[in-house]
Amino acid sequence: MEKRIYNFSAGPAILPEEVLLEAQKELFTLPGVGMSILEISHRSKTFDAILADAKNGIKQLLNVPDNYEILFLQGGASLQFSMVPLNLMPPKNKADYISTGSWSKKAIKEAKRVGTVNVAATTEEGEGENKFFKRIPKQSELKLDPDASYVHFTSNNTIYGTQWMSEPEVDNVPLVCDASSDILHKPIDVSKYALIYAGAQKNIGPSGVVLVIIRKDMLERSPDSLHTMLNYKIQAENDSMYNTPNTFGIYIIKLVTKYLLNLGGLEKMYEINKAKAKLLYEAIDNSNGFYKGHAEKKSRSLMNITFNLATPELEKKLIDEATKAGFSGLKGHRSVGGLRASIYNAFPTKGVEDLVTFMSDFQKRNS
Ligand SMILES: *Cc1c(COP(=O)(O)O)cnc(C)c1O
Repeated sequence: MEKRIYNFSAGPAILPEEVLLEAQKELFTLPGVGMSILEISHRSKTFDAILADAKNGIKQLLNVPDNYEILFLQGGASLQFSMVPLNLMPPKNKADYISTGSWSKKAIKEAKRVGTVNVAATTEEGEGENKFFKRIPKQSELKLDPDASYVHFTSNNTIYGTQWMSEPEVDNVPLVCDASSDILHKPIDVSKYALIYAGAQKNIGPSGVVLVIIRKDMLERSPDSLHTMLNYKIQAENDSMYNTPNTFGIYIIKLVTKYLLNLGGLEKMYEINKAKAKLLYEAIDNSNGFYKGHAEKKSRSLMNITFNLATPELEKKLIDEATKAGFSGLKGHRSVGGLRASIYNAFPTKGVEDLVTFMSDFQKRNS
């Protein structure tokens, strides 16, 4: 078999090797079925069981209460930027958004097409071309409207490498979260949320499927006038199968949840994630300023570690040498530059250790 390299891509991103090998083994035919997941009907008993397993996996891992629906939709997290306001903003047609990065801003852009958006806080700094985010706002900075239809926040800012340590406090206003880049990285209390959505391709599966966990009372808000495919209530009534779902994506999510349960669940995953991120942040902090972390320390993400070197030339040199040495995907997002190591759940500790060694060698050779 060909050798795999270290994949630091921000998304689509690394999946557990066990999951890839199991999918490979079953790709010619699912056990006892004589057909592959790519070929079977979504209305078959076989697929019913796969969908149920994927839902149960999510339910068990996150302790999802019974008054929530688990949906697997399409159009990515980006379509949720529209579906959330279309379904949940009426009848008041106003919502609070907390702006902590590029994805929050995109969510705000779509929400404004539906109703009034109150930006309850933004941590954007800088001017013109040089705008950036490097922190999560404090609770005291939030200017929340108690009468808003919901409050939206982005739990992990994939591009800037910042993350909420705990949910914003929003009293009785429904809380909505874009958790695309940190879903399942630690246990959370789902009962604090009215809706959580996450594009699968960062932490739970391949692209083309988005997980939506929605409290059942929220389904009553979906206006009948809404287009069918955009309507959460109809998607829930049809168990995510109003049309043909992403069968392969849901199958991989089933395998990923099984893998995480076997590992010991999200408490265990969280311990591993904290240890991995610590290795890398310590390497940055102990480099005498050769490497500079982008995010403020209190807002640092466990999933996307963003940092800079003294010059763009030196950054390019590191990326080129790292690529040759088998570390892929370290270039920062085009909008911010620098470097970004995405170390999602499936990223191995050994890969982080090897990167730290590489960075220390690179520093010796270049300072
Ligand atoms: C990647 C990402 C998105 C966009 O996901 P798509 O599935 O490509 O639409 C949205 N929000 C966050 C936080 C992301 O990391």
